Amino acid sequence: MAGEPQADCLFCKIVKGEVPATVVHETETTYAFRDINPQAPTHVLVIPKVHYPDAATLAAADPQAAADMLTAAGEIAAQEKIDGTGFRIVLNTGAGAGQTVFHAHAHVLGGRGLQWPPG
Ligand code: C5P
Repeated sequence: MAGEPQADCLFCKIVKGEVPATVVHETETTYAFRDINPQAPTHVLVIPKVHYPDAATLAAADPQAAADMLTAAGEIAAQEKIDGTGFRIVLNTGAGAGQTVFHAHAHVLGGRGLQWPPG
């Protein structure tokens, strides 16, 4: 069923505790952990506990879960103390945009100057 955990999904396994992660934030609907390959001093991934392949699909199917993901991203930025200097929320959508894990997630990046345009 749409939104149900997928047995072969890495991030579903992290939510279930089957794959270890450094968890920094959790709500009823979201889970957040440090990226294993950080691209900034703070690099946290926030994911919905429901499974959808990307953020756009999540937003279309379950707008509240998408909103919860963004709300959690803001709370994480405050918790990590990167909200004052500015931070970036990245939603890579599709392999051509660099998405490698097909469970919706938002990157929360900060703690250094961030350039625009991104690569
Ligand atoms: O947007 P994208 O799909 O590329 O992001 C996936 C992210 O998941 C990567 O930044 C990667 O470093 C991270 N990752 C992780 N823990 C894993 C596997 C991947 O933090 N076990």
